[in-house]
Amino acid sequence: MFDIPNNQLMLRQAVKWGVTYWDTANSYEGGNSELGIGKYFAKYPEDRKSIFLVTKSTAWTLKGMTEHLNLSLERMRTDWIDLFFVHAIRSISSMDKDMRKWGEKAKAEGKIRFFGFSTHSNMEECLLGAAPLGWIDGIMMTYNYRLMQTDAMRRAVDACAKAGIGLTAMKTQGGGQVLTRGEEEIKMGGRFLQGGFTQGQAKLKAVWENPQIASICSQMPSMALLSENTAAAVNKTRLSAVDRSALDRYAQASAAGYCAGCTRICESAVAAAVPVGRVMRYLMYCRDYGNRGFARSRFGALPVETRAVMARLDYTAAEARCPQKMPIGRLMREASQELA
Ligand code: SF4
Repeated sequence: MFDIPNNQLMLRQAVKWGVTYWDTANSYEGGNSELGIGKYFAKYPEDRKSIFLVTKSTAWTLKGMTEHLNLSLERMRTDWIDLFFVHAIRSISSMDKDMRKWGEKAKAEGKIRFFGFSTHSNMEECLLGAAPLGWIDGIMMTYNYRLMQTDAMRRAVDACAKAGIGLTAMKTQGGGQVLTRGEEEIKMGGRFLQGGFTQGQAKLKAVWENPQIASICSQMPSMALLSENTAAAVNKTRLSAVDRSALDRYAQASAAGYCAGCTRICESAVAAAVPVGRVMRYLMYCRDYGNRGFARSRFGALPVETRAVMARLDYTAAEARCPQKMPIGRLMREASQELA
């Protein structure tokens, strides 16, 4: 999700440093993300074979997915996609028998090698539902040092790993930077520095140390971040048990600032159909990732009626059920102000 056409050097350097899992989507940067990758492959066609190329569609109809897939192939100047995701499903019911047939046909035509979905909402249920299906090859889900500690996520990841489904972790930073507002935050920041890691590197390592996770999808819009992440990947130092329990304590101490994506809990407790989880994610893009433009464009794509009603609703029942104890009402009102 960055201006790839004008940052070709990033891709060149990524290949040189062995960063070969490339993830994009039909919608990223209004199509410029895929176009930028296509520009790169036009110049360095020999690199295509060493890249595991992933893209996604939010078309939600079979016809629309076919159109998106063909457009992705054209934009990226490639004959095949290694892994194609139905983007951002909220329930495993989206992966029905028609979707299965669509995937099988795209594979038979040689347009994709593997098929699956990405999910930011109700991830655990989606994973548990996918494991017994037998035709889901890969899943990309929100997964980080916070979520990996829960029993529900452990069970879901275990079921998929046993079923041979390749798992890609995204949103691995678990919200924003570790700040210095409280005792746990100060201790955590100091611990990373003492261990020779930045906090971002420590969070990546926490995920990589689980062998059930095949890969991490991490946005690297600058050479500094590409360099930091690559250094963490090649560094063989493991987090200690004390480091991991410190991360766990920090996750608990800062839970109210992180939405865990369990949207069926809060959204069913609000009087109108409001996508609480998505709005929380857009706030995260804005506040934690510093990507205000993208957050505003996603927020602006919500239906007008939803945006109009959002700030006026009563979220008391949703807040009472939220396992992270998030101040949902306040955050929804702030999102309406900040992202409108
Ligand atoms: S606001 Fe709370 S209940 Fe809703 S998705 Fe986020 S963590 Fe779950």
